[in-house]
Amino acid sequence: MKEYDVIIAGAGIAGMTAAIYAVRAGKTVLMLEERVEGGQIINTIGIENWPGDMGVSGVDLTRKIMAQATELGAKVEYEEVTEVIKNDDGFLVKTEDDEYTCKAFIIASGTEPRKLSDEMMKDAGKRPVSYCATCDGALYKGKKVVVVGHGNSAEHEIKYLKGICSEVYNIHHDDPIPADAEAIFVAIGRLPLTDYLKGFVDLDEKGYVISDEDCKTSVPGVFVAGDVRTKELRQLVTAASDGSIAATNAIEYLG
Ligand SMILES: Cc1cc2nc3c(=O)[nH]c(=O)nc-3n(C[C@H](O)[C@H](O)[C@H](O)COP(=O)(O)OP(=O)(O)OC[C@H]3O[C@@H](n4cnc5c(N)ncnc54)[C@H](O)[C@@H]3O)c2cc1C
Repeated sequence: MKEYDVIIAGAGIAGMTAAIYAVRAGKTVLMLEERVEGGQIINTIGIENWPGDMGVSGVDLTRKIMAQATELGAKVEYEEVTEVIKNDDGFLVKTEDDEYTCKAFIIASGTEPRKLSDEMMKDAGKRPVSYCATCDGALYKGKKVVVVGHGNSAEHEIKYLKGICSEVYNIHHDDPIPADAEAIFVAIGRLPLTDYLKGFVDLDEKGYVISDEDCKTSVPGVFVAGDVRTKELRQLVTAASDGSIAATNAIEYLG
């Protein structure tokens, strides 16, 4: 069994920032990351609204923050947190292959894209469906594509694809897909990654961890940071801000 003062689920901007604060306060810290560090921003080429580093790429920003966290002494393991259980001394954190214990736990597992409905998938037929224009846009150079969705992220995808594709259609999530579109890009919102927390902390009706600016949850010793919590503005600066607050409150809780 591996014991830590603080375990953080997710190594996106919120989780990595929390790790920096906790490790600088002398705590032993483990980040558990299901995929690769950086989270949602990893595929973005030019980040907006990040003070002090205009147009930095998601990869470069992630590299810098992770290097800072690990050079200070935070650890990272690439495993998905599957369950968290309260025990006498703190928390038991389970992954598929391992078990860890900690005295304070920080949820920073972010969100994933909302998937296209079964009906629209049928309409898409054999045409490719992508959830990331930056990742896959180049495959459709000079072709006609469609972006499903009308929010900020759809706007972001349309702007990017217009520089590559011959035509970019934009439709709602229940419109028919234009027959001549050769690929479908989906940007219809995001869903919180909290299945592993059901019955452990209070979630709202959409599955976000209920909290406010203090980043505390319904369970003492469990804190939450970033896009996965109930909040108005889901951005990098607010994720980093939450990470600092969650870790500071975890440090205070640990005494
Ligand atoms: C296309 C796009 C462009 C954007 N551009 C900007 C921008 O220019 N400026 C800006 O400020 N914001 C931007 N955003 C928003 C910004 O990316 C998010 O607000 C921010 O990344 C949230 O960080 P986070 O750490 O809370 O969550 P995430 O980035 O979602 O990271 C969560 C991490 O947790 C991991 N994880 C999930 N479940 C588990 C589990 N059970 N166990 C272990 N690990 C787990 C995930 O793999 C992920 O790495 C953009 C978002 C998108 C999608």
